[in-house]
Amino acid sequence: MARSDMQVRLRFLGAAQNVTGSRHLLEVNLQDSGKRRPVRVLVDCGLYQERQHRARNWEPFDVPPDSIDAVLLTHAHLDHCGLLPKLARDGFKGKIYCTAATAEIAKIILLDAAKLQEEDAEYKRRRHEREGRKGPYPVVPLYTVADAEACFGLFSPVRYKQPVEIAENVEATFCDAGHVLGSSIIKVKVGQNGQVRSILFSGDIGRPDRPIVHDPAYVEQADYILVESTYGDRVHQQRQDIEKAIAEVVNSTKQAGGNIIVPSFALERSQEMLFYVNALLLENAIPHILVFLDSPMATSITRVFENHPELYDEEMAEYIDKHKSPFEFPGLKMTESTRESKAINQIRGTVMVIAGSGMCTGGRVKHHLVNNISRAESTIMFVGYQAVGTLGRRIVDGEKQVRILGQERPVKAKVVQIHGFSAHADRDELLEWLRELKRPPRKVFVVHGEPESAQHFGDYVREQTGWQVSVPAYQDEIVLD
Ligand SMILES: [Zn+2]
Repeated sequence: MARSDMQVRLRFLGAAQNVTGSRHLLEVNLQDSGKRRPVRVLVDCGLYQERQHRARNWEPFDVPPDSIDAVLLTHAHLDHCGLLPKLARDGFKGKIYCTAATAEIAKIILLDAAKLQEEDAEYKRRRHEREGRKGPYPVVPLYTVADAEACFGLFSPVRYKQPVEIAENVEATFCDAGHVLGSSIIKVKVGQNGQVRSILFSGDIGRPDRPIVHDPAYVEQADYILVESTYGDRVHQQRQDIEKAIAEVVNSTKQAGGNIIVPSFALERSQEMLFYVNALLLENAIPHILVFLDSPMATSITRVFENHPELYDEEMAEYIDKHKSPFEFPGLKMTESTRESKAINQIRGTVMVIAGSGMCTGGRVKHHLVNNISRAESTIMFVGYQAVGTLGRRIVDGEKQVRILGQERPVKAKVVQIHGFSAHADRDELLEWLRELKRPPRKVFVVHGEPESAQHFGDYVREQTGWQVSVPAYQDEIVLD
């Protein structure tokens, strides 16, 4: 087959000069295949979460969903998988390839998202009815629990480093991205008989030396690379000693007689917290206190971690050999019902409560904040990024009074933010990952970052390597020749 007989196009349908809604469409035209339409492979099908882009979630997909042959999913975060139920409802019937852990976590996260979509629609419908007006979007859920469940049958598990043929003359290989459990970097090879082009999708790339997950895998060769740039314009602060910082909070709060409230994301951050608390208990660095994982979603995801010890890094494997699972220790309680959750407030003495949501925008953590934020002896311990406009950000920024569940409440609790938990590589770590390539790629596309961050990282890579780099815009189409 002559090179001119094959045409490969890449379409940037999300996370292009923004950070959510990851969707990249690969179209392959093989003229000798007798097919009229191109083979279409979608890499990630994420939800837009930035307010200014959310309307795109409601738009019809750029190509008919039933014309897409397969989806490759890098990992289970909503900004990468959150629109799969809609894609399947609207006609996609192919397979969704991802690791088994990603499939298991995505199912938990998509069910939760669907419930929220249903609740939101119902809330909006009632409010519009009350106010006698019509909103800009139809008052129906973006997708329902039934839609989410219907797409679960399409998940098709793959193993790391084992190439899978996903469509005619298209092969994909998943490697560990070290970002969250099951996360992948995906290399796609297109073509045959020596006329092969390879495209590497970074997904989200983790950082070296984090607990539980492996370090990101390096890739030796690819013709084209799509690289994320969430932190492409900054270098993470010197990682402070996370264990030491947590120990200080636990010890001082125990002495003061208050509680420790930890707003936390259900995936990865909650499991990392359990890992650190268990390690501190084993080192006798903190007293034995009750620790509540008060998030049914985080508990379900923790079970997925326990089902996949093969994904743990060496440090964690050694740890388990010595001490059993870090997700089971005396004093740890995983609360399911709201009754159990409410009962936590009746306990005298110091407890730690790990609960969602991570930025305090919803979930059970709000109730725990209500009970603790005005107590000088309690501590609110933040272990993740707090976006502008969220309740978590207002508390971290030191506001003296915040509104929680409809009431203004004075902030008297100690507020501590622990840095160093980031699950994304920074500028230098991203560049280091790219530099592992044995020969220069034809082109690097910088995606999944705010415009400034993506642009800055693009310039930096060009400067440091001399490679061709571009920062594609939303809906750009590029022929990969
Ligand atoms: Zn992610």
